[in-house]
Amino acid sequence: MTATMQSSPLLNDRLDNGVSPEQQDTWQALKDAKVMIVDDEPILVDVIQILLEDVGYKNFLALNDPTQALEMMLKQRPDVLLLDLIMPDKSGFELLREIRNEPVLRYMPVIVLTAASDADTKLQALELGATEFLAKPVDSSELVLRLRNALAFKAYQDQLAYHDALTGLPNRQLFMERLDWTLKLAHRHKKHSALLQIGLDRFKKINDTLGHEMGDEVLKTVARRLTSALQEEATGYQDGHQEALSLSRLAGDEFMVLVPEISHAEAVASIARRLLESMRSPVVLGGQEVFISISVGIVLFPLDGDLASDLLTHVDLAMAQAKLNGRNTYAFCSHETNTRSFERLKLETALRKAVDNHELELYYQPKVDPESGSIIGAEALSRWTHATLGVISPARFIPLAEETGLILPLGEQILRRACQDAAQWQQGGCKLPVSVNVSSLQFRRGDMPAVIQAALQASGLQPCSLIVELTESLLMDDAQANVDMLHSIKSLGVRLSMDDFGTGYSSLTYLKQFPLYELKIDQSFVRDLPEDTGSAAIVGAVITMAHGLGLTITAEGVETLEQLEFLQSHGCDQFQGFLFSRAVPLSEFTALLAKTNP
Ligand code: C2E
Ligand code: CA
Ligand code: CA
Repeated sequence: MTATMQSSPLLNDRLDNGVSPEQQDTWQALKDAKVMIVDDEPILVDVIQILLEDVGYKNFLALNDPTQALEMMLKQRPDVLLLDLIMPDKSGFELLREIRNEPVLRYMPVIVLTAASDADTKLQALELGATEFLAKPVDSSELVLRLRNALAFKAYQDQLAYHDALTGLPNRQLFMERLDWTLKLAHRHKKHSALLQIGLDRFKKINDTLGHEMGDEVLKTVARRLTSALQEEATGYQDGHQEALSLSRLAGDEFMVLVPEISHAEAVASIARRLLESMRSPVVLGGQEVFISISVGIVLFPLDGDLASDLLTHVDLAMAQAKLNGRNTYAFCSHETNTRSFERLKLETALRKAVDNHELELYYQPKVDPESGSIIGAEALSRWTHATLGVISPARFIPLAEETGLILPLGEQILRRACQDAAQWQQGGCKLPVSVNVSSLQFRRGDMPAVIQAALQASGLQPCSLIVELTESLLMDDAQANVDMLHSIKSLGVRLSMDDFGTGYSSLTYLKQFPLYELKIDQSFVRDLPEDTGSAAIVGAVITMAHGLGLTITAEGVETLEQLEFLQSHGCDQFQGFLFSRAVPLSEFTALLAKTNP
C-alpha cells in the first residue's frame, strides 16, 4: 500500500488557486459531508481518513468489513462512498449492485478505488453505477479533487431533485423519503410521531384577485413564518424535540411538518397553535395589507395508521375538517383525539390558573408507629378542587403538571407550604417531620438543593424535620448520576425517602450508595397481605433488607387490621393508610394530633 502524501497547506494552496471566495465557501460547506470508506486494508482506510481530515473533512464512516457496509449505509446515509473493488468477503462489484438496488442509495456518489487499470474492470464498475475512479496507489491531490467534485455535483442534484424552487423547502420527493424513514425508526423504537398538513385558507381567492406573482410572494412569506415558528418550537424545553421539525412544501399551498417524536397529542396541538399564531400579522403586498390564515390537519403515528399512505389520506381529511370547523384552526384526524386534546387543554389552562392563584391545597396523611399507635410524621399530599370540575386527583394533575412544566412553580409552592405548616405544628411543641413528594422534573432540573434551602429558610423549619420523597423509578433511572444530587440534598440536613418501593427495579448496589433514610413499601404489596403468600414473602424480605441497610421502613396503604398485624409482627417501623386516617386538611390533622399525641 502506498499513498502519496503531501503537506496539507501546499495542497490547500493548490486547490484554492484562482477561485472566487463564494466558490470557496461552497466548497468549504461540502466538508461537512459524511464520507464513508470501505476497504479491507485498515492502513489504507486510515491514510485516506487522515488525508481528508487534513483538508477539513470531519465526518467519517470507516469500515474494513464490506458485509456490514450496506446496513451501515442505510442507517447513516453517507454523502459519498469510497469503495475498494477487491475485498475478500464481498467484492466492491457486489456491494455496488446492492447499493444501486436500494432506492435511497441509488444516487449516492461512489468513487471506486482500484489497482486494476484494465478496461474491463472499469467498464463493469461503470455499468454498476460507479461515479468516479481513483487508481491505487491513491494520489492525494486527485483524491481530494475527485471527492470535492462528486460532492458538489451531488449537492447540486439534491437541491434540484429535493427542493422546491419557489421556497427552497424540501419537496414532495424528499418529504416522502423522510416520512418513510421516520416511520421506520419510530416503529423500531416504538416511538410516536406526528404529521401536520398545512393549507392556506382561501388561497385560490388570493391568486385570483392579486395574481400569481403575488400568490408566490404569499407562499414565500408563509414558508418563512412557518420555518421560524418551528425553530422557536424546537428550542422550547417542553418536549425537547432535539431533532429539527422539518417543513416541506408538497404542492401549491400544501405544506407538511414531520414531528419525529412526540409524547402525547397535546404536544402536537401546541405546535399547531404556534403555527396558527405565526400568521397573525398581515402580509404587505405591493403596499397593501393582506390577512392570511391557515388550517392544520394532524395525524398521529401509529394511532391513525401505520402506513405512510394511510397517514397521508387521513391527514388530508383532518385538514378538510379544520376548514369545515371554520378555518384558521387545527383538527386531529380522530374524533377521540380531538376530544381528548380539547379536554387536556381545558385542564391545563385551569391548572395554570390554579397554580398562579395558589389554589391547590395540602392535605396531610399521618405516619403512624404500629406499636404505640401514635403519629410520628405526616405526608403532604396535594388536592385540587376546581370550581366546576370538582375534586381532581393528583394522579391526574401531577402528570399533567410534569408534562407542562407547571410542576416547577407548583412543586415549590408545595414545598414552601409544607415547611410552613410543619414549622407551625412544631411551635406547638410537636417535633413531627413532614414528608414532601418531589417529582422527576423538579429533581432533574438540578436546583433542588437551592429550592429546599430557600423553603427551609423562609419557614424556619429545622432541616431534619423535612423528608423528601422520590420514587424508586425516578431514582433508578440514571442512578449513577443521581447519587451526587442525593448527597447534595442530604448535606442540607434533610432526610431522603424512596417512595413506591418495589414498583421500579432497584439495583442493590445503588440502594447501598444512595444516602437514604427511609424505604416506603408500595401499596400494591400491602393490599394482598397477609393471605397472598407472594406479597407476604416480599414484604417480609424487604423489611429485613431495609433493616440490614439501616433504613427505616414504612408501609403504605394499610387498610385492615390483618395487614397491620402482619406488619407489626415483621417489625415494620411505620405505616400509613386509611385504617388510621386518610389525608386530611391541616386543621383536621392538627385536631387529630392533639387527640392521638396529647
Ligand atoms: P404516593 O406518594 O404514593 O401517595 C400515596 C397515595 O396513596 C395517596 O394518594 C394517598 O391518599 C393514597 N393512600 C393513602 N392511604 C391509602 C390506603 O389505605 N388505601 C388506598 N387505596 N390509598 C391510600 P393521592 O393523594 O391520590 O396521591 C397519589 C399520588 O400523587 C401520590 O402517590 C404522589 O405520587 C402524587 N402526589 C400527590 N401529591 C403530590 C405532591 O404534592 N407532589 C408530587 N410531586 N406528587 C404528589
Ligand atoms: Ca409519597
Ligand atoms: Ca407511595
